[in-house]
Amino acid sequence: MELWTHDRWRFPLPARHRFPIDKYPLLRARVVADGTARADEIHETDPVPWPVLERVHHAELLRRIRLGELSVREERGLGLPWSPELVERGRRAVAGTLAAARHALERGAAMNLGGGTHHAGRAFARGYCLFNDVVAALGDLRADGLAERALVVDCDVHQGDGTADLLGPDPHAFTVSLHGARNYPFQRIPSDLDIDLASGTGDADYLEALDGALDVALRRCAPDIAFYLAGADPWEGDRLGRLALTKPGLLARDERVLDRLRAAGIPVCVVLAGGYAEDVRDTVDINAATAAAVAVRTDGGEGNRTPTSALQRPRAPVITTPPLEASG
Ligand SMILES: [Zn+2]
Repeated sequence: MELWTHDRWRFPLPARHRFPIDKYPLLRARVVADGTARADEIHETDPVPWPVLERVHHAELLRRIRLGELSVREERGLGLPWSPELVERGRRAVAGTLAAARHALERGAAMNLGGGTHHAGRAFARGYCLFNDVVAALGDLRADGLAERALVVDCDVHQGDGTADLLGPDPHAFTVSLHGARNYPFQRIPSDLDIDLASGTGDADYLEALDGALDVALRRCAPDIAFYLAGADPWEGDRLGRLALTKPGLLARDERVLDRLRAAGIPVCVVLAGGYAEDVRDTVDINAATAAAVAVRTDGGEGNRTPTSALQRPRAPVITTPPLEASG
């Protein structure tokens, strides 16, 4: 299966920061080891052109991001130290979602090994999210007349406030967010459908809520494309989640979303969103299982190869890179 990544464009982070920057190269290696994609099927994109982002975000916010002029308060809200490398990586991550979205229209399903930065809204960048890749991709498809109506299924454990801010007024977009009720962001911008889940919610209750949400969404909209944020942070061991899904439960979630959307004839673009396990390999397990589930649901080509069960492979050792100095 064709995949996109921006894993080689790193940025300076303080030591022991929670942003899982090592997840991305480990995931690239893992999907190749699993047989989900060949190494030459994993593509790196150029940074997305600024005009694509200007359709989504306020020009003044983009100016401050480009020039490193975020206020102290904005940078604290973002949770990541500004650097030119951060901006470059963010633009490459958006470009991956653009490419995956176009590919999904051709092949039924596709995935970016990144993106899902759903806390970025029209005039704010927060919660590790610099740009809203999903809304940028939708704007790009619309500009080329490839799609108009969209469904966003956001299964990251945090509510998709930035996406709701951007698509709330949009009559041709329907946003669904399933998230922990008592979790960030504490001041919500309402989605078209928000499902608040109690802390400790497990597999069965989650899947039931998901089915109900998909029932509503598929009654209320007939999208040309769906974006699925397959967050790994509803996992029971996640440091920033408060739910209790198991790894098989998360895979069942992915399969449910993909199968229901594909059965309705809706192309699906899958993005990673969050995942903050203490051991990054747990997050990689979950993300790799998602990629394998997408691969077997891609039309034609080599997506038909059956990857090894991603949850049963022995773990590769973590490749630790020396902590980068905080700078810039
Ligand atoms: Zn999250």
